[in-house]
Amino acid sequence: MLDSASISGALQKSQPKEIYHLAAQSFVGASFDQPLYTANVTAVGTIRMLDEIKKFDDKIKFYQASSSEMYGNQKSIVKNEKTPFEPASPYAIAKLYSHWTVNMYRQAYGMFAVSGILFNHESPLRGMEFVTRKISNGVAKISLGISKNLKLGNLMAKRDWGYAPEYVEGMRKMIQQPKPDDFVLATNDTHSVKDFVIEACNIAGISSKCISISKENQRPNDVQHLKGDYSKAEKKLGWKPKTKFKKLIKIMVEEDISRWERWQKKEFFPWDAFTSGDDSAFK
Ligand code: GDP
Repeated sequence: MLDSASISGALQKSQPKEIYHLAAQSFVGASFDQPLYTANVTAVGTIRMLDEIKKFDDKIKFYQASSSEMYGNQKSIVKNEKTPFEPASPYAIAKLYSHWTVNMYRQAYGMFAVSGILFNHESPLRGMEFVTRKISNGVAKISLGISKNLKLGNLMAKRDWGYAPEYVEGMRKMIQQPKPDDFVLATNDTHSVKDFVIEACNIAGISSKCISISKENQRPNDVQHLKGDYSKAEKKLGWKPKTKFKKLIKIMVEEDISRWERWQKKEFFPWDAFTSGDDSAFK
């Protein structure tokens, strides 16, 4: 995303009809430590991409991964496509820059460019730096005696968590529309990090006393409450979330328990524990 020439090379090699632009420095926490890098990759990177597409083939359909983080601590209880944005992190500001860039390319150059404002979407493939996977992986290890505790940050923050595969289907539907437009994808349900922890511990059969709070996991500024209204996507795309909060946690915790059980049996298989920085069990 930092190099226009390699974007141009990728376009020529793949000759795409549709582009799903998910590449970013995508972790809110890290964006406070790396604000310039985040701006360069996540904000300016989108212009690099759109400008290369405009030169190469302006008929390519473009999907931009916008984010519910762009709402920040905006006061409305439920957010939709018309809710004003109040970004609260370098990541959210960079995403908002991209969001408006997409809008401008659509209006100025007539390109088919859409933004999906996706609320948090999770799965067993989620990176360990995100709280849901950190919890599912952490409680799985505690339940199998591989580790003893898990340290988290702000437990009171609330998020609207959905199941990622369903959101990917929603992205595809946005691109198949006759006219480019922006859509919120969400579950319209919100829970705290604490609720997530309690449910994950229940599923893993461990006590939530193993979880502690540490300062290093807290952010200089945090978004406290997110809940999305997906009614436009339901009406125009026929999209609806299916997997509820408890089911999502069950999927993630059971998958992590199964991975660690296989590891205990010395089975070799590809997974992301090594690349996540969480290699404590391997030492
Ligand atoms: P985000 O909504 O894109 O920032 O997704 P995250 O999964 O990174 O964070 C969701 C919420 O969990 C935020 O309010 C974090 O402050 C909170 N949180 C609490 N403890 C942790 C932690 O240990 N790691 C992360 N990543 N988030 C945490």
